[in-house]
Amino acid sequence: MPNGYQLIRELTTENDDNTIRVRLIRMWDAINRNTKLTISRNLILLDEKDDDIHVTLRVNQFDQFNSKLHVGDTYFISNVKVLPAADSYKPVPGNKALNFQRNTIVKKTTDDIGIPAYKFHCLPFDQAKTRAGNIVNLIDVAGRLIEFTELQTTTNGSEKMEILLENQWSETIKITLWEDKAKTFIAEDSTYKNSNTYVIVTGTLAKNIGRQFLLSSTSSTQFYFNIKHPTVMDLKNRQPGREATNDIPKFVPFVQAGGQDISKDAKDMTIAELFDAKLDDNITQILCSVKGTITGIIPNFGWFYTACKNCHKKMQMSGTSGSKKCLHCPNQPTTTTYAYMVIMNVKDSTGSATFVMFDKQAKSLIGVPVQHILDTDEEASPYKIPIVVNNIIGKDCIFQLKLTAHSLDYGKEQFTITKVTELKSQEATDPKPFNHEENHQAASTSTETTRKRNAEESVDSDSLHKTNAGTITHKNKQRKLNDENHHTNNQGDKE
Ligand SMILES: [Zn+2]
Repeated sequence: MPNGYQLIRELTTENDDNTIRVRLIRMWDAINRNTKLTISRNLILLDEKDDDIHVTLRVNQFDQFNSKLHVGDTYFISNVKVLPAADSYKPVPGNKALNFQRNTIVKKTTDDIGIPAYKFHCLPFDQAKTRAGNIVNLIDVAGRLIEFTELQTTTNGSEKMEILLENQWSETIKITLWEDKAKTFIAEDSTYKNSNTYVIVTGTLAKNIGRQFLLSSTSSTQFYFNIKHPTVMDLKNRQPGREATNDIPKFVPFVQAGGQDISKDAKDMTIAELFDAKLDDNITQILCSVKGTITGIIPNFGWFYTACKNCHKKMQMSGTSGSKKCLHCPNQPTTTTYAYMVIMNVKDSTGSATFVMFDKQAKSLIGVPVQHILDTDEEASPYKIPIVVNNIIGKDCIFQLKLTAHSLDYGKEQFTITKVTELKSQEATDPKPFNHEENHQAASTSTETTRKRNAEESVDSDSLHKTNAGTITHKNKQRKLNDENHHTNNQGDKE
């Protein structure tokens, strides 16, 4: 320790009396989404070698350190403990993190010691897209703001907005900002409603929602508008032929809740027309909407399946061990959730057809997630349709379907719904924030009935195209709910 302090890169877990000379470049509180209580305070420290490291302060340490810590200031910090970095939600890369201890001393220094004010780990957009479902590292991105929405309250009571960033190659990336992050962003509107607003967004998670990729804010997300930083300089050097077309960020209204947004481009069709649909030359798909009444639910395949929590695709049996895994997320820990798959009869004046509805659509129509039914309905079993699910029978809805060569080949028996919106009956009430005491029948047809705001999902809508719902009866009706492995196996049987 020739200078009386160590570099971050020199720190080892062997000593807990390390002294470092660092700038505090970021600080935020992790908040529990449900209780709104602070879980921890998080610091990012940067040293003169441009190395950064994450510090987590426990709630009971706030009094000891709070008054001493100001973003932008530089410090000598002694008696810090080095530990392995967390294995998920890491705000900065690297394999070490720091804890402050009871005897840790934070001493501000006013010497200009040449530590930069910022450090980011911005990912190119195309690389961010490969991180969907990956929760190990949080993602920083930078871009020119080209679109933003207003603040919207989802039906579960969360507030959000969306922004669209563009890079120097005219590629774009969408970011959903939640709750206080959205409000923090909006508070900067006098900045971002001007031309050429460059923003760096830290601490996001990458997700695939349906077929759409986006980034989602976390507790650690912060915004840096038009800062002097090499990353912003790079953005301004647009690639030849990629000159910016519209300098002032564009306000884009949200489509209001009250049903999934059926595309204006969807062609109205009757059920009879569905059966006769053909793809003309040069046309790869027909987007259509069908108005009909749900007349029944086909129970043969149950009403839900075990899904990967990262990507919401169906879990697959892995070898002979009896364990299950997600083929799409080979490097992720195996955590599962339950996802709807409801097969139903729909009729209109011209005929009737079998429609399959996956989790997102079913949740918007049924109003509660699968887990809620399993938690609250003692009778719930995989092959008995619960009352709450049966309640959709009789509903008049508009169903959006995407007819492709694939779905037309197999779809004569069965069509997969890509969106659904209920035609409101007179008794229908406004969608309400989800809560366990809520009447399940409340018209909850919006796009945002997910209880967990970050748990939006995609479903494997291709998985059942080859199934003929009318001709296969299930062999294993006796299987119990909690027998997850067998349930997964049942899912496998169908293909
Ligand atoms: Zn997965």
